[in-house]
Amino acid sequence: MKILDMEFTGAPVPAEAYKQFVQQLSGWYGGGEMPQLASQDLRFALELQKQKMNSLGLGMQCAMKGSSGTDKNNAVGISYSDRVFNNCIVSGNLHMTRSFSNQVYKDTDEIGLTAVIQDLKGGVQPDKKMPLSCPNCGAASTLGELEDGCEYCRTKFLMSELYPKVSNFFITRHADYSQNSAKNKRQLMAFMACCIIPMVLIPSIIFRDQIIARIIVGIMVGGIIGLVLFGFKKLFETFSLIGKQARGGGGTISTLHRLNKIKKFDPEFSGEYFRDKAIALFRIAVYSKNSAELACCKCGCPDRAADIIEADIFNLNVNSCEIKGDVCEVETTLFLDCLHFNKKGKIVFKCDKFRMRMRKRLKKPTELGFSMQAVSCHSCGASFDAHNVKECPYCRTPYELEDDDWVMTALY
Ligand SMILES: [Zn+2]
Ligand SMILES: [Zn+2]
Repeated sequence: MKILDMEFTGAPVPAEAYKQFVQQLSGWYGGGEMPQLASQDLRFALELQKQKMNSLGLGMQCAMKGSSGTDKNNAVGISYSDRVFNNCIVSGNLHMTRSFSNQVYKDTDEIGLTAVIQDLKGGVQPDKKMPLSCPNCGAASTLGELEDGCEYCRTKFLMSELYPKVSNFFITRHADYSQNSAKNKRQLMAFMACCIIPMVLIPSIIFRDQIIARIIVGIMVGGIIGLVLFGFKKLFETFSLIGKQARGGGGTISTLHRLNKIKKFDPEFSGEYFRDKAIALFRIAVYSKNSAELACCKCGCPDRAADIIEADIFNLNVNSCEIKGDVCEVETTLFLDCLHFNKKGKIVFKCDKFRMRMRKRLKKPTELGFSMQAVSCHSCGASFDAHNVKECPYCRTPYELEDDDWVMTALY
């Protein structure tokens, strides 16, 4: 069944892979090994993020545990696929506790962790020449070579060790406002006290007569003013909360319409794929020391993004999509939940909004298995790591990542 480009398959969700990935990610943020299930491009982003945090003297601990009784919710069977791969979006509810060394910042939240799990389509044997990097040493190779033994580290792989893998993940927060009632009561008491005390004291001090009557009137008038002020504060908070929940929500229809334009040129393209790509590019750009050196970023990183140490996507709007010849240029707005390490040396949570321009040549359909860490030269066929090169290291033919994948051309 297809709804809005998304194929709802009845196929079982890779729940086991999801569970393992959550454990591995928790381990990684606790100072452990790189998650084995992470794809090469995701490893690259995680590595850049860790380097950035280390250079700032921050160690992030992030423990994630399944919320009690939510195992059944940990299976959302939405997938999108190309000829060879099937990407399954698996979402689960978790309890996350995040803290940083040398920092007072700590957040404990009920979150949704969404992982994009890539697996081979049943019954499909991918091409042996498919570029793939070695999960052990990271060298650019091909599927056939890795099955025979990596040229550099000699490790042999079975297909079952290469797939499934996780190509991306993001966290959504479910803020729980029900726990706020005790806080509300305390705030209301404080508001009323602040209004009642001056209303009682000031007239009593000035007039020095009918003290008891003045106290009673003061309590009543002060109480009413406190209540009204408290009501205004709550009203204001509710509106700003609605605004937050609706971030980017108004642009959904036009976004789907604009992305559909690309689908006419590239039948394998999907909105989900594009959102994953956009957040992956954003993370790589803000986590890296010098984004302009990377083949996937044709621009620098703006100052206000330079202190981001953790970024999650909340929503994505496509503002424009232009196709000239085979070059497709898209301007997007990313609505993000980010942690910043500000100039005062404090970690702060912010809801951010960034504009990002992305470009790709639409000559070839989307390949879900594509990794910038292992590409094949269009001229000599050799596999190489393209993350920071502009030409094939073997035959010197210029290589443009945008022939195969989306690149970022501006961020502001
Ligand atoms: Zn190797
Ligand atoms: Zn070449």
